[in-house]
Amino acid sequence: MTSSTDATVATSETGDPLLLTPGPLTTSRTVKAAMVHDWGSRDANFVEINRSALARLAEIANGAGDWVTVPMQGSGTFAVEAMLTSFVPADGTALVLINGAYGKRAKRILEIARRETLVYETAEDTPPDLGEVEAILARTPSITHVFAVHCETTTGILNPIAQLGALAAKYGKSYLVDSMSAFGALPLDVRSMHIDAVAASSNKCIEGVPGLGFVICRREALERTKGNATTLVLDLHDQCANLEKTSQYRFTPPTHVIVAFHQALEEFVAEGGVAGRGARYRNNCRILIEGMRALGFRPLLPDALQAPIIVTFHMPTDPRFVFQRFYDSLKQRGFVIYPGKLTVAESFRIGCIGRIGEPELRAALAAIRAVLDEMGVTGLSAQTA
Ligand SMILES: *Cc1c(COP(=O)(O)O)cnc(C)c1O
Repeated sequence: MTSSTDATVATSETGDPLLLTPGPLTTSRTVKAAMVHDWGSRDANFVEINRSALARLAEIANGAGDWVTVPMQGSGTFAVEAMLTSFVPADGTALVLINGAYGKRAKRILEIARRETLVYETAEDTPPDLGEVEAILARTPSITHVFAVHCETTTGILNPIAQLGALAAKYGKSYLVDSMSAFGALPLDVRSMHIDAVAASSNKCIEGVPGLGFVICRREALERTKGNATTLVLDLHDQCANLEKTSQYRFTPPTHVIVAFHQALEEFVAEGGVAGRGARYRNNCRILIEGMRALGFRPLLPDALQAPIIVTFHMPTDPRFVFQRFYDSLKQRGFVIYPGKLTVAESFRIGCIGRIGEPELRAALAAIRAVLDEMGVTGLSAQTA
């Protein structure tokens, strides 16, 4: 996929810098090429492309038959807000599990919608304690819904969504999951995990372009959400009813995004689905962490908590290491990384997802080494080990 002879410079298939970020991310040339056509939203071909893409999503989560995928125009947060405000009714109470920015965002969404929320928050490098969650559920019968984030992209931490689902089921709670940055790369089984609704988007591990969110909903649970929505646009029940009745979105769909998403799903299936994609990302993540460790960088998370999506590294303390310069020089060499936004530590992040593989990761590591040399940063390992 790399198209350069200098081992420390790389570009995507279209000559753009590689996005080592958690989405938008580097997409294949063929996904981008799917967007050169204009589609009428009522065109029978477009309607079929949309239908088949949505049908595939429920299958990926092992929900075919009893779960239905409701698309939502917009970025991933639009889908999360649609899920929370459609599923949690005015008289409901949601237990929100927080260990990063996306859990906090869910809480904010529920507060704006004036939904009762209860928060169980752990540090950004700490998954929720299952015993503690069970104790909260046992002593708080008013809880109707449990919300969790699958991979908290703030750090890249993997949360125990299967175990949390078992607890939600044991106490008779509806379980809602934000699997935005994990969907398609990490196993997700809505049946065995007791998930009523899970939100994700076009532009993360499925490797499409941004513009479409979706919520995979247990049909029976979705049917009971009629009248819950707090906005016209984000009403999942109405969106689903209208799509099923007329095959049309209620409001203009992002046609190009959906056609590209369909192409991305074809490529996802060709790669071997969740198993194939997950294996490539795990390999990317391993190469990245080993290479960065060899350069003296230290990952925030222990390996057991690290999802193969994005890796957070401690900011080196060497005064010659200036993050803005590091970032800019890497960008010049064709690699866009991601700043951190943690409260537990000064950090930066590097993504392992998107249309990148071993050659791109090796080139990124070579570029990082070159930039460290350029900044005169030496003895990093002694400092941060
Ligand atoms: C990317 C992401 C979202 C959605 O963010 P948008 O910027 O709205 O696309 C939500 N939750 C998680 C965990 C994410 O990684």
